[in-house]
Amino acid sequence: MFALNKPNPIIACVEDDADIQMLLSVYISNAMGVYPVFLKDSTEAFDFLGITESKAAENADLIIMDYQIPGINGINAIKKIRESGSYTDTPIIMITASDDQKILEQAFEAGANDFIAKPIRKTELIARIKSQLRLGFEMDLRKEREKKLLELSGKLEEANKKLKEIAFLDGLTGIPNRRHFDIAFRSMGKQTIRNQTNLSIIMIDIDHFKLYNDTYGHLQGDECLKKVGMILKSNLLRPTDFVARYGGEEFIAALPETDLHGAEEVAKRIQAAFETERIPHDKGIGGIVTVSMGIASTDGSDGKVFIVEYADEALYTAKLSGRNTYRFWRLDN
Ligand code: GH3
Ligand code: MG
Ligand code: MG
Ligand code: MG
Repeated sequence: MFALNKPNPIIACVEDDADIQMLLSVYISNAMGVYPVFLKDSTEAFDFLGITESKAAENADLIIMDYQIPGINGINAIKKIRESGSYTDTPIIMITASDDQKILEQAFEAGANDFIAKPIRKTELIARIKSQLRLGFEMDLRKEREKKLLELSGKLEEANKKLKEIAFLDGLTGIPNRRHFDIAFRSMGKQTIRNQTNLSIIMIDIDHFKLYNDTYGHLQGDECLKKVGMILKSNLLRPTDFVARYGGEEFIAALPETDLHGAEEVAKRIQAAFETERIPHDKGIGGIVTVSMGIASTDGSDGKVFIVEYADEALYTAKLSGRNTYRFWRLDN
């Protein structure tokens, strides 16, 4: 028996001559244990292969095409089969009456993989069929492997993207985390020094948040942190503005190309947003969640950017001043 990856290959023979049909049938079935499917002209062949709309495709593993068939000749038939897109890699062997170089050239150009000249000899026929089938199967396997590899690398890319997001976003609020801030701030700092432009920082801390947790529970405390994250994010309007959860109930905003006055505008907007949102906090200031903010700014001329520490100091002053307010570093210290 004939051992191949696929046990019963479908061999389609486009051949109108009854004697040659008989010959092919005997040779192939004897040597390989399968009977070829005979199609007497190109119309039958296209129907069988599903190239015309009339019939569903029958997936042939190998096509044997006689050069002389009724209707369009074998070469044009091969061209049409290849152009259909469904049989780009299916092996096609052409049967020719002679080894006329011109015809062979045309056949290979049309997409034939091999040829057999009449009179057909059994050994040659079977050897060529087997080798073409093996190549076809190898091609299928390779395509399958390539497809799997592509799928895998796509999945890997997606997983990497997710991982990166997880590493840079705060798990609770979904806004950037401190690590992300530190990296972004480093490059903002460099740019500020290089270009001598303004950079402002607002450190934001929720007022009496321990009391919020004590009153409503930790889970609702988490929900509150999410809302605060959203309020802050939606009140930073420039695409270069950056807000992150700095830790616990503390947030930080970096505002490139923004001086103290610009930062004050933002702080006012944030304070007003909490007034509008009115997240209930029984023990908070005025019965709602409020924040205190510390603002610091640099114009890049001092060579070093310590404004995060300065903003933190200013925040401390804001807390001491009664909360629900903002303070500037140095001016108010
Ligand atoms: P102040 O107005 O002075 O800032 O008072 P405060 O109570 O907000 O500040 P304090 O630093 O005393 O308490 C911060 C609280 O924030 C305590 C801590 O349990 C809570 N907290 C920090 N991280 C989280 C969190 O991820 N989820 C919840 N629910 N609470 C958190
Ligand atoms: Mg604190
Ligand atoms: Mg607080
Ligand atoms: Mg705090």
